[in-house]
Amino acid sequence: MTLIAKICITCGNNFIPNTGKQRYCNPKCRNRHYYKENNEKIRESRRNFYAKNRERMRIYNNAIYKIRYRETKRDHTESSKRYYEKNKEKLAKKHKEYRAANKEKLQDYSKKYYEENKDKIKVSNRNYYDANKEKLLEKSNKYYETNKEEILGKKKLQYKKSKEKLLESQLKKEK
Ligand SMILES: [Zn+2]
Repeated sequence: MTLIAKICITCGNNFIPNTGKQRYCNPKCRNRHYYKENNEKIRESRRNFYAKNRERMRIYNNAIYKIRYRETKRDHTESSKRYYEKNKEKLAKKHKEYRAANKEKLQDYSKKYYEENKDKIKVSNRNYYDANKEKLLEKSNKYYETNKEEILGKKKLQYKKSKEKLLESQLKKEK
């Protein structure tokens, strides 16, 4: 059986078919033709699919977005952590210099802030203290234990100084 050249109904090229039924020069043209013929059908089924699964897709996309957001956020925190670790001393120095240069300004700020928010600060301090009483007590006990000698030494020194002052003033009076 001899096969004669045919014309592809998609691209219009001549081709030698492998079988008598073949209407396209290659699979690409077959797919293209199928798609063209069924374009409207494909689109409609896609539309239906989206309509049916809209809520599910929304949830899915949302979840994907959240994961990506978390990943970027983590990347950011990690890179800033790395930056901080790398430049720790430099940053501390800068911070110290800034504080030194702006000492009065910063003191004014905090004074002003305190004056303006006095009541709020007192309440929040009170609340914080009440909520963390035991923890704070423990902390201060621990601090005392670790710094006992230093604290006692300071106290002794203060006591000695005030005693000397007292003696001095008494001596002055007696004179
Ligand atoms: Zn073709």
